[in-house]
Amino acid sequence: MKQDLIQRLTTYVKIDTQSDPRESSTPSTAKQWDLLNLLAEELKEIGMDEVSIDENGYLMATLPSNTEKPIPTIGFLAHVDTATDFTGTNVQPQIVEKYEGTDLLLNEKLNIVLSLREFPELSNYIGHTLITTDGTTLLGADNKAGISEIMTAMHYLLQHPEIKHGKIRVAFTPDEEIGRGPHKFDVEAFGAKYAYTVDGGPLGELQFESFNAAGARVVINGTNVHPGTAKNKMVNSIKIAMELNRMLPLDEAPEFTAGYEGFFHLMNLDGSVEKTVMDYIIRDHDRVKFDERKKLLTRVVNEVNAKHGSGTVTLEIEDQYYNMGEKIEPVRHIVDIAQKAMNRLDIPAIIEPIRGGTDGSQLSYMGLPTPNIFTGGENFHGKYEYISVDNMEKATHTIIEIVKLFESEGAE
Ligand SMILES: [Zn+2]
Repeated sequence: MKQDLIQRLTTYVKIDTQSDPRESSTPSTAKQWDLLNLLAEELKEIGMDEVSIDENGYLMATLPSNTEKPIPTIGFLAHVDTATDFTGTNVQPQIVEKYEGTDLLLNEKLNIVLSLREFPELSNYIGHTLITTDGTTLLGADNKAGISEIMTAMHYLLQHPEIKHGKIRVAFTPDEEIGRGPHKFDVEAFGAKYAYTVDGGPLGELQFESFNAAGARVVINGTNVHPGTAKNKMVNSIKIAMELNRMLPLDEAPEFTAGYEGFFHLMNLDGSVEKTVMDYIIRDHDRVKFDERKKLLTRVVNEVNAKHGSGTVTLEIEDQYYNMGEKIEPVRHIVDIAQKAMNRLDIPAIIEPIRGGTDGSQLSYMGLPTPNIFTGGENFHGKYEYISVDNMEKATHTIIEIVKLFESEGAE
């Protein structure tokens, strides 16, 4: 199984699938089709049924039930695109056999080192087979490890018909990294009652709570006048932007918060005297606090307008996704089954709220409750990304155990 996982992951990561938030098409980049088409062929080759790919790049397939027993259809999902934060062009994966617990030289020429001092988690992987980058790209184990694990689990189940199971659906989807993963996902066509995204990080991660999320755009209109004759005329929109930002709780920012603490994050500021645009994201696990944050920003904008004249500042807030915990809590047994699957494999389940969202955050609100399980990867979205093949194998077995448990537990 390890060789299959290595073969799959190293093949998939070499295909550039970076998404692009500036493009409105789905998939946002045509190159995502390269991997989608390859995966469609592979799903057919391993013997999956009902392999379909729609015009928006949503690839689905079925592992038919092999029992008469009534069992709910469950799904497994992973995304084909890679993060926009770092290049995914010309990925050259490197395989480290029997990792010895030392610093890893990723790139001799550029002297890029994956060091234990910076990344102490490396010591968890002594004896493992690791896959790293060559220091010039991200790896793309997020989420191609998830794809490899789902594919390998399906292949395993097809080769082991003695393992009884209900109908299983799999989907590989575009554009997760730009927050548009499930936008055009056809939940009805997928036809699963529950699903799991295989898109988490280190061994044992099991997540069913995410942030509530909104994006806010603040536009400040100033007046530019020659600085020599500007007295009582110039309105400097950059300075109003600075004033506005100071009116928000400054310690409620990503760099000062953890666990269940929410925040305002000024992601981007683009300003001149005449006009300044500020892009914030607002995050909170608690729906009430989330709503309060949006109200607070609105109040701050109103105050600035009261001081500098109405129309100085405009505010647009758009909700992005909600805490999937609200939708998963009523069907908590699907989390329990995943936890039990891990227990059976001696994997300590780590149940923590996600400080972000996953495709499951949106899917759960589209009627498909979808917790997230680990892939085994570390340091996603950058050049220090790596993954343990040993833990990929455990993720694959976790998928298989979940499938078995739905059969044996008679879960509804
Ligand atoms: Zn991901």
